[in-house]
Amino acid sequence: MTENKNNVCYVMEDGEMDVQIKQTKAQPEQSNNNRTNWSNGQCVVAMPGYSVLNPSFDMSLCRAKLENDGFQIPEEDMEAPLKTALEVPSVRRYMVFNSALFHFLMAPVLYLVVWCAVFSTLHIFITVSDYWVLCLSVSLVSIFLTTAIVFVLHYSNKEIDMNLDVRLIQVNERLVKHKLLVSVADWVQSCAGNMQLYFVYWDMSRCLKALTETLEERNFVGNDTQNKLKKKMSHLVLVTEETAVDLRLEEAAKVATNYSLVPDEALPAQTRAYQLLMTYSAAYVKLLVSQRLSGPTHHRLRPRRNHCTTAPLCLCQYIKKQILR
Ligand SMILES: [Zn+2]
Repeated sequence: MTENKNNVCYVMEDGEMDVQIKQTKAQPEQSNNNRTNWSNGQCVVAMPGYSVLNPSFDMSLCRAKLENDGFQIPEEDMEAPLKTALEVPSVRRYMVFNSALFHFLMAPVLYLVVWCAVFSTLHIFITVSDYWVLCLSVSLVSIFLTTAIVFVLHYSNKEIDMNLDVRLIQVNERLVKHKLLVSVADWVQSCAGNMQLYFVYWDMSRCLKALTETLEERNFVGNDTQNKLKKKMSHLVLVTEETAVDLRLEEAAKVATNYSLVPDEALPAQTRAYQLLMTYSAAYVKLLVSQRLSGPTHHRLRPRRNHCTTAPLCLCQYIKKQILR
């Protein structure tokens, strides 16, 4: 049975809903007031995918669970943008082949392939009298190469994911109005994949205020913030499909438009702060729920002005550390 770190998540397994609420919460008749009981970073709902090969999520069950916790979200703010972001065949394929379980299963296969490749290459060029010396050196080289590839894959998983996190920006822009952020996170637990859609409570007001102040301070002292943003975010592009109508041919065609996610320097600090918070929201939640945010784990050692109760860093601090430093 999967258990969320915050102990307040619903867990669904084998089609049956198993409600686990270890925290003291309001009575059912006070469900509309439940939202006041949540604090930043607490997981409201964790919805597992249907299967390893079908990583889609039961949206109606998500809605039912969220409503039970007092989150009344219109369909156009949840199901519709989530379907646009995740229910695309190419995105589903990406989720299968880029899942933690797939990487986990790939490691031994990769080792064998690397071993054979290195052995056949060395065998041609080097004539060794002792066969076991060749086998031993090939094994050592293969272990080194496999470890390096697995490390690169693991490290890239900590970064913002162009195919999932960036696609979820538009969903989070809508959900944040309801004090929720969404992300897809997965990791391997007991040799089984654990891909889930996470809804995390997040009141953005304090992070927005703090990040706005930081951007204003840096503008004032002439800090080269814009160049840092361009350097760190130049690869982040949001692709949207827009319908263009050709009047001569009376045909409608889908045109892909690319938007850079680097906030415009001319915009007010608060708008730029908001854009940054939204851009990194899904990537941050992914690291938060899988406990991969690095920082002091002890409460007293955590940096001041942390607006998150369940992690060593809050969203605005994560952005300051990763992007603005
Ligand atoms: Zn914050």
